[in-house]
Formats: sequence, structure tokens, C-alpha cells
Amino acid sequence: MTKTIQVKTRSRTEFINITDEVRQVITDSQVQSGICYVYVPHTTAGVTINEGADPAVVKDILSTLNSLIPHKARYLHMEGNSDAHIKTSLMGPSQSIIIEGGKLLLGTWQAIFFCEFDGARNRQCLVSIITN
Ligand code: ZN
Repeated sequence: MTKTIQVKTRSRTEFINITDEVRQVITDSQVQSGICYVYVPHTTAGVTINEGADPAVVKDILSTLNSLIPHKARYLHMEGNSDAHIKTSLMGPSQSIIIEGGKLLLGTWQAIFFCEFDGARNRQCLVSIITN
């Protein structure tokens, strides 16, 4: 079973907490035990899991990525968004989270973040559940 979460991004680069939307897919599925596979089908956006309690953490991750990988540099790719492609490969296109008792086994401080690197755009995030 695969569901699509629509993600509307508002900045060129931003992290959006999608944990509640992913949890809703699990709840709706009524699956008790399995794997939740979160996949972003884009080349300039990815997904990561990190601290959701303090929003400064993902701001620091994003500002560090943006300073390490500047928007404008001597890139070869003609589209002008090579930085977005590089940041996307660093974050990766997918995450897997264990489901037990109908709940995502995220750590206390963990949250799932959609990572936009070439917005603002309308994006998609696929959530597929593999049952045990
Ligand atoms: Zn490109």
C-alpha cells in the first residue's frame, strides 16, 4: 500500500516536519507491525530524520548545508541548481521506520523532515508500508 503526501514548500531551501502526516498514513492503514518506507521522488528534495523538539537543530543543519554548498559556484550543470542536487544526495531520497503496536518507533526527539533544496514548489512524498 502506497500513499502520497502532498508537500507545499515556501522557500528555496527549507525543512518541513512531515511526522504527523506520516503517522496519519500508519493510523489509516491499521497496520500493527511492519516497516514504513518514506520516499521522495525528486532530484532536488530529500528526506531526513533528526531532532524535532528544538527547531533550531534543522535550521542549523540547513544553514550549514547552505554555507558548505553555495547556490552559485563553478558548477557544470546548466540548470543553475547543482547545489540542490548535491544537498539532495547528502540527505538521500528515503527513510525507513519500524512500526510496532500500530506506531512509528521514532525516538523521543526524532522527527521526519522533508528537505526542500530548490523551492518553492508543490512536492510529493510517498509512504509505503511493508507489513510483517
Ligand atoms: Zn537541475
